[in-house]
Amino acid sequence: MSAILVTGGAGYVGSHACKVLSAAGFLPVAFDNLSTGHRWAVQWGPLEHGDLADVEAVRRAIRRHRVEAVMHFAASSDVGESMRQPGPYFRNNVGGTLNLLEAMADCGIRRLVLSSTCASYGLPQVIPIREDHPQQPINPYGETKLAIERMLRWWDQVHGISWLALRYFNAAGADPDGEIGEAHEPETHLIPIAVQAALGQRENLGIFGTDYPTPDGTAVRDYVHVTDLAEAHLAGLRHLFAGGGSLACNLGTGRGHSVREVVRAVERVTRTALPIRLMARRPGDPPQLVAEPRLASELLGWRPRLSDLDTIVATACGWHSKSRPTRRQAAHSIQMK
Ligand code: UDP
Repeated sequence: MSAILVTGGAGYVGSHACKVLSAAGFLPVAFDNLSTGHRWAVQWGPLEHGDLADVEAVRRAIRRHRVEAVMHFAASSDVGESMRQPGPYFRNNVGGTLNLLEAMADCGIRRLVLSSTCASYGLPQVIPIREDHPQQPINPYGETKLAIERMLRWWDQVHGISWLALRYFNAAGADPDGEIGEAHEPETHLIPIAVQAALGQRENLGIFGTDYPTPDGTAVRDYVHVTDLAEAHLAGLRHLFAGGGSLACNLGTGRGHSVREVVRAVERVTRTALPIRLMARRPGDPPQLVAEPRLASELLGWRPRLSDLDTIVATACGWHSKSRPTRRQAAHSIQMK
């Protein structure tokens, strides 16, 4: 069984990738410092509890499990926090990736699928956004991912590491089987907050900005189901195993939804009137982010299966309505092993 090192494998997208890898016959080895990831989310392979700051720990994990390729999710990823504290973002994301690449080069591992982001584009000049859109990030988080993409070009040229940078739009939803899902603390993302408000787990949802130049005045995003993202990573890995070349590729649906559309979807799925508060715009939020998704379809044969808004919301509701006891049980059962 080919072992794949999944950095950030205890995190939101990383844990869904582990599940998809396992179903496809790979052994996902989660490498995670558990600073924001969760032990209960590691269910399909071993957990290497370590930090990318420790290059020797990365080398050890690669050698111990005879890793054949890497999926790299581990990163600090809160845009707002990156505006207040850029230092840890550059240290964790750029410094951590540098260590990972050095360990890969030392151990002769030559394939990497990177979790990148549409935040590397900055303010869109044209919608939908194609991969050749200028990359001018407007926050440190996006800047670190752009720096990583640039680093990868040199590791390909010098060390022969081929890579795929997958630039996600808005990851959302949860595992349709309800085994894993989104669990950020604090939660800042629209869909989990809206779902929690509908389930009575928080008082209300604040809508950030109703005066955007969009059809209903609220901001528009391209939401992609987290399992679809995970499947794109698997397709990316197969592309690299088949000798495919290095490339950056968007992961989105090509369809945007406004905040109000998300509110309506949550109300439809939960049959609840959502308590909302109209608020000012959140600083740094572009009015509209929508992907041109054609390249992922042509290159990887990837098509989102679960990314219609109602499926995203329904799976998120399934997770948030039962996640608390499940998480406790999962944590308990792992400690008992
Ligand atoms: N948003 C909102 N209320 C919230 C959280 C988010 O109105 O409590 C809006 C946010 O301003 C943005 C959209 O929902 O326009 C998606 O935000 P999210 O944080 O989920 O993802 P982002 O696009 O910032 O990565």
